[in-house]
Amino acid sequence: MSRVAVVTGGTRGIGRAICERLQADGFTVAANYAGNDAAADQLKADTGIPSFKFDVGDHEACLEGCAKVVEALGPIDVVVNNAGITRDGTLHKMSYDDWHEVMRINLGGCFNMAKACFPGMRERKWGRIVNIGSINGQAGQYGQVNYAAAKSGIHGFTKALAQEGAKFGVTVNAIAPGYIDTDMVAAVPEPVLEKIVAKIPVGRLGEAQEIARGVAFLCAENGGFVTGSTMSINGGQHMY
Ligand code: NDP
Repeated sequence: MSRVAVVTGGTRGIGRAICERLQADGFTVAANYAGNDAAADQLKADTGIPSFKFDVGDHEACLEGCAKVVEALGPIDVVVNNAGITRDGTLHKMSYDDWHEVMRINLGGCFNMAKACFPGMRERKWGRIVNIGSINGQAGQYGQVNYAAAKSGIHGFTKALAQEGAKFGVTVNAIAPGYIDTDMVAAVPEPVLEKIVAKIPVGRLGEAQEIARGVAFLCAENGGFVTGSTMSINGGQHMY
């Protein structure tokens, strides 16, 4: 029987590319999303991948949502924590709500999904958790103290949980994408985007499929020796 993978924010952008790639690699895939039913319906129509609507920032909703996935598809072997939002603004203009909402969804979502799925992986002695961080969590970014803090937190969360999962066959890794051509980046004003692209050594935005390839590598059956790592996929924009 094929392994079951849940991709949060799996109905659009990078998440959708991850769903399609994992399905192509033989996983039974479930996509989670927040509210855009049309994107979820489109994913189902195009690929047959079912979607489960719940807010990853809501602890109880995650537990219930994952229980529904298990009921429909079987025990969850792979979680890709991809759902994320931005609420940009410089600190002096940023509201507490903008801070909290980004922390709640981007970082809290990783905790909530791990709470729902890690215990079962541990019991079954196999699991893959991939958390989608960001170049801006590694390097910081003007106007994004909330997002950079949440994404940086994801990288710490990854390394800590990797230590807990190691002896149970559960790997926990992160991917730090650079700027990828999705709705999230389309929201960046054109002049700002031009300046960003000028700083990317390969001279272009990344494609969602280029992140999905990294996820597939980390989720592979024989990927058990890669854990606690962060894979940077950013066109050479940030190296360390
Ligand atoms: P998009 O904005 O294109 O898609 C976001 C997805 O997340 C949607 O499916 C959305 O659902 C879902 N989502 C948002 N909030 C929630 C929530 N509370 N609960 C469940 N699902 C939710 O994002 P991208 O594809 O661009 O980004 C994906 C990830 O990659 C994010 O974590 C982002 O921070 C990260 N990233 C992106 C980069 C980029 O350049 N695009 C660069 C670095 C990192 P719905 O459709 O229902 O709204």
